[in-house]
Amino acid sequence: MLNETHVADATSWVESANLKGADFPIQNLPFCAFADGEEQRLGVGIGDQILDLKACAHAGLLSGLDDEVVQSLQGAVLNDFMALGRDHWRAVRKQIFDLLKSDGESADTAQAVSGEILVAQSDVNLALAMNIGDFTDYECSHHHAKRMRKLMSGASKPLPNGYWLPRAYHGRSSSVVISGSPIYLPIGQIEAENETPVVKPCVNFDYELELGIIVGTGNERGHPIPIEEAEDHIFGFCILNDWSARDIQKWERLPLGPFLGKNHATSVSPWVVTMEAMAPFRAPQQAVPEEGWPEPLPYLDSEQNRASGAIDVNFQVLVSTEKMREEGMEPVVNSRNKTLDASWTIAQIVAQHTSNGCNLRPGDLIGSGTVSGETPSASACLMELSEAGSITREMPTGEKRSFLQVGDEVVFKGISEKEGYPRIGFGEVRGLVLPPAVDYS
Ligand code: MN
Repeated sequence: MLNETHVADATSWVESANLKGADFPIQNLPFCAFADGEEQRLGVGIGDQILDLKACAHAGLLSGLDDEVVQSLQGAVLNDFMALGRDHWRAVRKQIFDLLKSDGESADTAQAVSGEILVAQSDVNLALAMNIGDFTDYECSHHHAKRMRKLMSGASKPLPNGYWLPRAYHGRSSSVVISGSPIYLPIGQIEAENETPVVKPCVNFDYELELGIIVGTGNERGHPIPIEEAEDHIFGFCILNDWSARDIQKWERLPLGPFLGKNHATSVSPWVVTMEAMAPFRAPQQAVPEEGWPEPLPYLDSEQNRASGAIDVNFQVLVSTEKMREEGMEPVVNSRNKTLDASWTIAQIVAQHTSNGCNLRPGDLIGSGTVSGETPSASACLMELSEAGSITREMPTGEKRSFLQVGDEVVFKGISEKEGYPRIGFGEVRGLVLPPAVDYS
């Protein structure tokens, strides 16, 4: 639903927010957690600055909001605020929009104390903006599912359940880390030809580009969230890298699914772009990816979901080797990807997750699944791009890569763009592959 916070020609008195191509115009207002030597606080991104919410509260700039809302915005993480629900999220967005808008009602008052309420993004460290109780990783792209099945098992036909439900596994929240955290090459048990598996550092180390979905309000155990209400429970989005040790994964995965190949690390971008900010970038649920795709079962289907269940975000996957960076070379673009290649929507993901009565909680993280497109070059992981290692890419230094190696850095960037609207940036998620943290020999 569009409102005055989405108006395209609104500008901010924070000049950097008005620059063409800025990630954080006044129509975005993504949340973050940051620390600048003092305690961790919550903020909102505007241009190249952060609006310090605790400082705003102290300056009396949040006085139009309920006390419990103002209280929740002065914590170190978003969980308490997210638990309050969508009407309060909307009220806060409107209030902040009004504070930062060039001709907003409270703009003069806010601008007068700008030195107290604004901090430069370059002066602080960003942190995880929520305590993540649980992490679930989905598989939303039928193209990804089909190619991975072939590459992992040699099977030409997808498994039948993928036509009827969005598949997922439970991940590990303890190892979800903020962008820039070190990624240690995992050590694991890997299948070997002589039947005795070997324990060694992963050789087929991979990334998976995904949209991170952040749960705002949860549900009571035993009470599924109907698809019609599913989106009301989602607070916002980030970019997510589901680092994957393919050789460990391949050996361990049957019959119980991913485990140590995945749970060593998941990186997320620090900015939480809200569901509300995405309102102009909604699209119909995307056309079924192949003939014979069935109509969804009633609990995964709604008129609204068909009409506008998709969210349009475009990504870039950038990779550089240590040598490339030493020689001052730009990273190579491995792929460009988009959420519109997903066969399942966010509402279907939430409806499926809770359909058995499983309870979601504020701050839970859900990975959309690898957003690979139909053509192999639009694959959002190296397993697909390299066809399980059979295709080698030559980097600008002459180095060869099919999977990641120690010293490689992976960066995902995301933006939403639409004619007539300022673009909404998601920022980036970055991770450098380091050797295993312990001696393995
Ligand atoms: Mn994944």
